[in-house]
Formats: sequence, C-alpha cells, structure tokens
Amino acid sequence: MADYNDLAELIFPDINLTVEDLEKKYPKRNLQEGAMVTRFAPSPTGFLHTGSLFTSLVSARYAKQSGGVFYIRLEDTDTKREIQGSGESLIEQLKVFDVIPDEGYISDTKEIGAYGPYKQSNRADIYKVCIKHLIKMGRAYPCFCTQEELAALRKEQEANKEIPGYYGKYAKYRNYPIEEAMKRIQNGEDYIIRFKSMGDHNNKVSFHDEIRGDLELTENDQDIVILKGDGLPTYHFAHLCDDHFMHTTHVTRGEEWLPSLPIHLELFDTMGFERPKYAHFPVIMKVENGNRRKLSKRKDVEAAVSYFLEQGYPKYGFIEYLLTIANSNYEMWRNENLDKDFYDFKLSFDKMSLDGALFDLEKVQSISKERMAYRKASDLKDEVKEWAKTYDVNFYNKIVADEEFFTKILNIEREKEKPRKDYSKYSDIYPIISFFYDDVYNEFNLNELDFGQFDKAIVKEVLEDYVNTIDLSLDEESWFNSMKELSTRHGFADNVKVWKKNKEAYKGHVGDVTGFLRVALSGRGVCPNLYYIIQILGKEKTLDRINRVINTL
Ligand code: GLU
Repeated sequence: MADYNDLAELIFPDINLTVEDLEKKYPKRNLQEGAMVTRFAPSPTGFLHTGSLFTSLVSARYAKQSGGVFYIRLEDTDTKREIQGSGESLIEQLKVFDVIPDEGYISDTKEIGAYGPYKQSNRADIYKVCIKHLIKMGRAYPCFCTQEELAALRKEQEANKEIPGYYGKYAKYRNYPIEEAMKRIQNGEDYIIRFKSMGDHNNKVSFHDEIRGDLELTENDQDIVILKGDGLPTYHFAHLCDDHFMHTTHVTRGEEWLPSLPIHLELFDTMGFERPKYAHFPVIMKVENGNRRKLSKRKDVEAAVSYFLEQGYPKYGFIEYLLTIANSNYEMWRNENLDKDFYDFKLSFDKMSLDGALFDLEKVQSISKERMAYRKASDLKDEVKEWAKTYDVNFYNKIVADEEFFTKILNIEREKEKPRKDYSKYSDIYPIISFFYDDVYNEFNLNELDFGQFDKAIVKEVLEDYVNTIDLSLDEESWFNSMKELSTRHGFADNVKVWKKNKEAYKGHVGDVTGFLRVALSGRGVCPNLYYIIQILGKEKTLDRINRVINTL
C-alpha cells in the first residue's frame, strides 16, 4: 500500500535535502542578546508605496538601534504581477532615504549575505523541501480541483450561508486515497499542493502583537494553497520558510496581514518552527472630506515615493516626517534635542499608533522647510545639484556652469541664527531664483514690468539716481540707510509708519523705492533680499539691468 512517503517522493523526486539539512545550512545568527533581525519584503510589482517606505525605514531602524540585521527579500512569486526592473528601482529609491540593507537582494545579479538566495523565485527548492516534509507528515496534499469546481463550491457555500473557502467537508481532496492521487499525478493531471489544517473556526488562538498587544484571533481551518501550479509557493508558505531560515526575529509588516496571521501561526507550529515576533504596522491613511481612507495609488500622488523624489523633498525632511508618524513621542524629543541627529531617537513599538497613521502633506512641507533652512549653503548646493541632475536638467546645467554663483544665491539669509525659510523642496528653488540667470532675465518683457500705481517718470527718476549713486561696498545696514536717503531725495517717506500717518505729504515710502529696484532687477515685486541680489549680481550686471529698464520708461 502506498503511503505519504511514496506520494512525497513521486511529487518531489529530485528534492533530496531535508529540513534538518536546511537548519544546518542556515544556522542561528550569532548576534548579541536583544538584537533584532528585521526585513523588508517588497514585491516587484511596480513602484515603491509611501507606506512601504515607512515600514522599511522603521524596520531598518529597529534592527540598527538594537545592533541587529536588516535585510531585503524580493517576493517575486506572483509572476503575473511582476514588472521587470521594478525590484532594482525599489532598492534605488530606498537608498535615497537611507534604507540600506545589511544583507539581501541588491539587484537581479547581486545579493549579499549567508542566508540567501534572497529572491524568492530562486528559493523554489527550499520551499519544496518543507512541502515534501509536510506531505510525509500527512499535513499537505495534492488538490486536483479545477477553477470551475472552486467557483461552484463558492456558490454552494454562498447559497448555504456558510463560510467560504476550502476547508473541512468542502476540502474535496483532503482525504483522497493516496493511490488515487498518485495515479492522477502519474497521468499528468494538473494539481496544486494544499496545507491540511487541523484548526477549527470555533476556536481562538491567542497571540501577542508587538504593537497591538494581546489579541485573540479565530483559528485557521482553511486548507490553503501552499504550492501553486507554477512550482512557486504562495505568500503564506514563503513567509514561513523564509522568515524561519533567514532567522527574522520580528516580522514587521502592514496590518493588512493581520487577518492571515492564524494561517501563519498554524504553519509555524506544524513545522515545529519557533514563531517569530510580529509587529503589524498601521496603514497610512488620508483624510478626505472628513473621512479617513487608505492612501491610494490611483488617487493620491503622495502614495508613490517617486512623487517625493521628483518634487525634491529633502530626505532629511521626509525621513523626519515619517518618524513623527512612527512614534507619537518623536516630535517632543526633536524639540528638546534640536542639535541631535534624528537617528539618535530610539523607536519603540508601544509608541506606534494603532488605528492608521494619517498622512499630512502640509506637515511634510513644514518639516522639510524647517530642516532645509538650517542646511549649510554648500551642502544644500550639492543636494540640489544631485536632484536637478535627474529631475531638472535645465536647472542642473545652470548650477554646474557656476557652482559658486549658485551657492551664493542659496546663501541669501542662510547660515545665521534665524535663517529665511522659503524652500520646502528642491523644486521650489528655481522658480524663485531663476531671474539671477541672464538668459532668463533676457526673456522678460521689460516694457511690461509692473511698478504698481507709480508714474513711469517717478520710477525712472529714482532708478537714475540709484545708477548714479550705486555703492556695493556698503554693509546691509548702511545700504538700507542709503535707500532711505534715496527715498527722501525723491519725496518718499524714509519710514512706512511716518508715511502711514501722513500719506498726502509723500509720493510713497522707502518700501516703494526698493520695490522699483526689485522689479527692475528680478522682474517681480517679491524676491529674496534685495541687498544680496545686488551683491550677487555685482555692479556691472545690476547697472546693466537697471539701465535697460530705464530705457523702457
Ligand atoms: N510581499 C509582501 C507585501 O508586499 C510582504 C509582506 C511582509 O512583509 O511579510 O506585502
């Protein structure tokens, strides 16, 4: 009489290793007490979701702060949904945000670490060793159901108001005679492999989530598919084998996996593998019209990390923002430790929100603005240059043509106690400063410059006087005094308050006079600090621009 061993050998004749062999091949990691082994396990199905960056960033921090290991595993078993090249692009994007694995998948041709392969499609034999083991135990079996049969089953269960799925009495091949199954396999029939569950949905399984605390979940009783027709495992089975043999201590993943946790617990227990700890991270939500919903890749630009890269949000601003949603005490810590690196903050599971983290683009902007303001001009120059190289080539060419000039522009009201806060992302910069570049200025229609309610003759008179008295050697304060004198010479008040009290007595005030210069030099009324604009343009360019404007007046 054929037994489970015969069935297992028939299905996997070439699998000679055993679970014990794998245990030896992937020994326990030699790490200090308390060191955490975490991972990020993306599927190469397109783009890096902001929620995934959040999960991976935080997972990496847990490993690093505990002296452990963070690795990346590429979960490419869903070949239908795979998008070529997206695995490598995920790694590139993660790198921008400092999420750099100690171990694991690096690219399609490169990986590091002794617990690989780290790409699931290269691990087929490992899964098969474990499935062979389960078949021998009588805890896995071939199922020959067709799609039509499964659809009919679903209909029947719906009609009977029964729990849907493949379980118990509905699991047609669960107790199928071994000889029969072997005959059908020998005849070349299609089949998949299912796990034989011993659970009961009337029972509860207790479990401790690192973030959510003690939970009681309904036991699994579904005979889930563990090996698909294409020879690759399902997520559930790959999770079991990979997190076991890679010795993950903490499975950090999105809360959407919580409902399938009972399956995973049963799988670990059946294989006799120690259960890892689990931390189910909150899903990132968005408020729209007063309602909360998941960040959606179709509706929300901010669902894709690529959006933040394109816009040029500085990584230190974005990471810091993600830390504020990771731990509720982060902001308080930051305010008390302004001079520290954000990586000095110790993350903890119990400070993580349970009911969905809210994504707030305005907050990303305000944190980024705050952080960017305190960057040194030369550092910011390097960052912007790096960003522009990919995302704004025109800007990049201008930067590299004269890096010193660009650094000076960036340094306007920077590197001081209260720096100017005007950029929240790299893409904000060029529109504000482009007028510094002659080719941009030359495109302005100088006849249409807007000097407000003032007569052209008055503007001309003031600009001509400035041309005759220009002095770049003045410091900022003396320069401003010279602007007051210029105002007085032409009937403008040298002080706004004085003007407000007695408007009839003046043509306007000193702000209007500097406004004329502003418009003449930058083409618009609002621009960075005028004193520095003049200093950076230098005497020759300043005079040239003003004279050209005078000629139109
Ligand atoms: N590949 C799974 C996903 O993309 C990973 C979940 C996990 O971290 O275990 O959702």
